Parts: sequence; structure tokens; C-alpha cells
Amino acid sequence: MKPFSLLIKPTSADCNLRCEYCFYLPRSELYPECTRHRMSNAVLEAMISGYMGTDQPQYAFGWQGGEPLLMGEDFFHKITDLQKVCGRPGAVVANGLQTNTTLVTESLAQHLAKYKFLTGVSLDGWPELHDRFRKAIDGRGSHRMVMAGLEKLRKAGVETNVLCLVSQANVSHPREVYRWFKDQSFLYHQYIPCVEFEEDESLTPHSITGEEWGEFLCEIYDEWRAGDERTVSVRLFDSIMMRYFNGTRTICRMGHDCRHYFVVEHNGDVYPCDFFVDPELRLGNVCENSWEELLASDVYAEFGKRKSKWNARCEKCEVLDLCMGDCLKHRPPRGGDPHALSTLCAGWKRFFLHACDDLKALANEERQRRDTARRAEIASAAVARHISRNAPCPCGSGRKFKQCCMKYAR
Ligand code: SF4
Ligand code: SF4
Repeated sequence: MKPFSLLIKPTSADCNLRCEYCFYLPRSELYPECTRHRMSNAVLEAMISGYMGTDQPQYAFGWQGGEPLLMGEDFFHKITDLQKVCGRPGAVVANGLQTNTTLVTESLAQHLAKYKFLTGVSLDGWPELHDRFRKAIDGRGSHRMVMAGLEKLRKAGVETNVLCLVSQANVSHPREVYRWFKDQSFLYHQYIPCVEFEEDESLTPHSITGEEWGEFLCEIYDEWRAGDERTVSVRLFDSIMMRYFNGTRTICRMGHDCRHYFVVEHNGDVYPCDFFVDPELRLGNVCENSWEELLASDVYAEFGKRKSKWNARCEKCEVLDLCMGDCLKHRPPRGGDPHALSTLCAGWKRFFLHACDDLKALANEERQRRDTARRAEIASAAVARHISRNAPCPCGSGRKFKQCCMKYAR
């Protein structure tokens, strides 16, 4: 079975904030029969036991919303209890949580720390930037509440990263935003472009253009490259380096097919992608269908194939291997026509041409660094065992030790 991860919406689109640009809030219309959406114990159990009954190198659960912390602390205890009961001996479990942090309590933070929930904090920069669109229900900015929640997470020792939506609020301050996150001790950054379409396919007022995105990324890149390569991780830069380092595509946008994960809604309904929780793309339900059935779904296969039906211009593009026509969501109208050119095209091209040779060189440096470290370890162990200079090198190259790894011995 092809490995897959889960992105779970235990509260559907329910949230205690009202961020103006939220793409998921309108999804509440999918389930109009109730105003309060919460995952039941039965659905949680069916989902975890079914998933952990499949054979995966790692069981990756991403808890998102809406705001998943509306579920309350008990829900997170149930999650970890079920994972312990359902996991086979040696099963590797990874829990990720994406939250606005405003509902974090000290005891919940301790639980998240104990079970190593990697927690993404939704934060767009300093108060004036963040509060422009990220608002509480009463219309006031949420920055102060977010920072208070972050403090509780940090005090408990939860590992956090920042997820910054790049919108009209902050796109013209790339270096300052990056430095501000660094000043707040964030060492893992994720920048997501805000791209939403009106019905006539024009961009919403919060959204950014391709040119703005390109400028933002190039500026952040240059700031990062001025000495942060070994201390700060920017997810996009890491994923490009991984592509060069070992050929893997670690983010779905860089893949040729959109079958990377499943979204599980509060009632167990399964969809192919966070941005495509649409009635016609409902693949089944975790209480009624096995993961084998869901993986084999024709709807899933058809959805996956849309990604590589990119625009004719992409075929001849010099950065196609990295861009892969961009995410379907950015092809107007919101992926409805996979052949449409991404609204971010100009930005991606500018950024990849700016950074990809340099990232390739960094990936090569890293490969050499690891190779040297591996050889040093082999050689030092061989020397400690008094292996003869003329013996075959223990690295398996077939050459004599003295002509191969011996020089790396420490
Ligand atoms: S549509 Fe975009 S976000 Fe969804 S799976 Fe495809 S690349 Fe990923
Ligand atoms: S940069 Fe533009 S043309 Fe090139 S692959 Fe991406 S979307 Fe297509």
C-alpha cells in the first residue's frame, strides 16, 4: 500500500476567530444540519484504528481546523490513548497540530509536549500586520491572545513552528517579517501565499499577485542566505534542497499527482485535499470504507491526475521540475480548470531562477558533508580495530583501506 498521511478536521470549519481571508470557514455550509461540528468518539476510533491497521512506515496525523483546540483537552488524551491501543509494537506515530493557540491551557500544553505534538502556530508577524486580517469574533485583533498561547506552549516545552500566511497585510515586509519571527525564536518557518478568487476569477483584496510572491520569496531567501542556512529552516527551501539531495518531493505542490494525503472531516467523510473539500470529491467515510477502498477510489485517481494537466506554457518552462505547474488551487477558478496557468506563475519562475542553482550547490555541499562524516566514522572504527592499511576498505568500495577512507580517520 502506498504510504499516506491524514489531515483531520475534528471541528470542521468551526473556529473561535474570524480571520478575514480564511478559506475553510465557508466549508461549514457543507454540513448545515448542525451549527456545532465536533468529531465523535466513534468516528475518532474508526479513523485511528483503521489507519493504524494499515502498514505505514510512519502514522502521520495532522490535526487542523477550523480550530482543533475547540475539541477540548480530553479529546487530545483520547487521541494518544487510542494511538497506544491501536498501534502495533514499534509503530512510529507523528502528531502535528495547527492552531491559532488562543485556547491553549497549561495542562493541554503539557500533554502536547509529553506526546511531542509538533505544533504550528498561525501568526502573520507583529501586531499591526497580524491583526489586519486575523480577528476575533468581536472584530478585535487576535495577536495578543496568540502570543499568550504561544508562551504557554513554550513554557511546557512544546516544539513549535510558525505558519505565516502571506497576504496584502505583510507581503511588502518580507525581510522584517522573517527577522521578527527569528527574534521570537522561531527556527522553523512556513510561508503560504494567500490566493483566493472572487466569483469572476479576480483575486480577493487579501490575496497577493505572482509578482508580489516572487519578490517576497527572493527577499526572504537572501535574508536566510546571509548566514541562517544551518540555524533556520524554511520549509520551501528545505523541500527544494531535498529534491536535489535525494530526489524526493516532500511537499505536494512539487509533485506530479495530487494523491498525497486524505482529509478527514468531523463526521468521518474523506476528501482528497484540504483545498478541495467539495461534495463531488467526497471519497467515502472512515466508518463505512476501508483505506484500501478509499485509495482505490476512481474519484481520487481522477483528482490526482489533474495536477499534471498543466498549462501548455509549463511544458516548456525551465523550472517545471520544481514548480510542477503549481498547486491546483492557484489555477483559476480554484482548480476548476487544471489547464489554467497558476496566478503565481511569474513569482514562482522569478524565485526558482533566483535560488535554485544556489540551493542545488547547498544540497551538494550537504551531501559531501554527510559523506565525509560517514567515512570518518567508518575509518575511525577501522583504526580502532587495528585494520591493516592494505585490507579492503570497510566502506565496501573494493579499494584498499589506505587508498580509500583511511585519510578520514579522526
Ligand atoms: S491541490 Fe494543491 S494542496 Fe491539494 S494536493 Fe494538490 S498540490 Fe497539494
Ligand atoms: S513557473 Fe509558471 S510556467 Fe513554469 S511550471 Fe510554474 S506555473 Fe508553469
